[in-house]
Amino acid sequence: MAAFGGTSLDEELAAVREWLPAEQIEALRPDYISVHLQRTRHNRIKAKLTPPEDYPETHLTLTLESPALPPPLLRKLTHQCEAVVAAAGEGPQVMPVLRHLHNFLCGNRFTTCWREVRRAAQLVTDHGGRVGLDEANGIVTMRVEQRGYGLTLRIEIPEAYPDVGAGFEVVRHTFPEAMMAAYSAQAEDAVRKCVGGQPWEDALRASNPIRGPGRKGGGSDGTPTVRVTNEHMRSLKHDVRFLKKVTDLRQVNARRENRNGTLVASAQDRRSARRTLSRLQKKEGAADEAYEKKMQELEAREEAIAAGLSADNHSDDAQPSLSAVVGLLVRKLVLEIPGEECQACGELAFPESPAAASLSDDTAPMRPCRVFCGHYLHWDCLNRWLTEPPFVRSCTHCNRRIYHPDWPSDYKLLERAWANQQAREREINDVSDFLGVDERFQA
Ligand SMILES: [Zn+2]
Ligand SMILES: [Zn+2]
Repeated sequence: MAAFGGTSLDEELAAVREWLPAEQIEALRPDYISVHLQRTRHNRIKAKLTPPEDYPETHLTLTLESPALPPPLLRKLTHQCEAVVAAAGEGPQVMPVLRHLHNFLCGNRFTTCWREVRRAAQLVTDHGGRVGLDEANGIVTMRVEQRGYGLTLRIEIPEAYPDVGAGFEVVRHTFPEAMMAAYSAQAEDAVRKCVGGQPWEDALRASNPIRGPGRKGGGSDGTPTVRVTNEHMRSLKHDVRFLKKVTDLRQVNARRENRNGTLVASAQDRRSARRTLSRLQKKEGAADEAYEKKMQELEAREEAIAAGLSADNHSDDAQPSLSAVVGLLVRKLVLEIPGEECQACGELAFPESPAAASLSDDTAPMRPCRVFCGHYLHWDCLNRWLTEPPFVRSCTHCNRRIYHPDWPSDYKLLERAWANQQAREREINDVSDFLGVDERFQA
């Protein structure tokens, strides 16, 4: 082996042996060196160095491998190492290359989330936001807003990422405090689920704070939530005119006499009502079937999503969690929600200004209300949708069922409540007709 300036390759190999723990050395021969440089189990590079016969006059060649670093970054790092070798002239090259790689690993916290950071930065800058990157300390700062709704987010990538989840702090924001708190809590929960092995999209769905229709426990008003069964479906009539008529006919059939003992409906009337009722119910059968099919599709989709969350996609290894934080707090909360239309009325679900009264007043009829799928409707619009036929709708944004635990999901119950209300209103109208009260003066 050639020697130069008192340094032989043997001395370089001895220095490597002294510097690196034995388990990180795969091969250490004068013609081939293969070592693992690593800071954490995810943050590592395998370096293969091949010194030629006439080293160091002819420079060594090298290849780098890493499970964490994407190919473009690995290529860039390879070029840097080649420059280090070139700068060494005919001096020692092995240790300078390995030290360069070591410094790279120690000086860049983003090596374990390079793609995630790049994607997040792209998302923010594409929407006119600002991004600050501190590679040495693993800090990403983002400022982004839409229609005056915005936040400044400080994310910290820990040394042992992704085994330890991304930390974050909402430095400032313009959302209602309770709303921001709910989304922050969901993001924290999603990060924990990522560390537990769930891919971030699943972790976000699984951390949904809105209770789903299938889960136990009932609505917050104490109404038991009931899954749709075929029996419910058969008894459910969804056509408005049909519901009115059936309710009227049932009343004719049921009430022989009113309180004063006056005959309300004759036996003939009641018989005729029963016949019409049965005819109408048959006619409605076809519509029921189509409706039932739609409901089953919606139920099947919810079940598929729930099954996907619990089974296939779970890994024993911690999954990257930075994307969960950015996906929820930047993409969803800032870039999507403030621009979302209430699908019932077509107006923006959120008011013009984050300071608007309807946002802080939780009795305001036009306050935005988050449904199970994560989209927003005005409270009033949602109330109308969930208490009037057809009672069940799918979200026009994501095609999942529109559901909120504050309204019962028992359609039979909803149908009965609605039909009773309709009947009451007509009774009032009948009375006012009889008394000659003009509807315009009723108010
Ligand atoms: Zn609306
Ligand atoms: Zn939706």
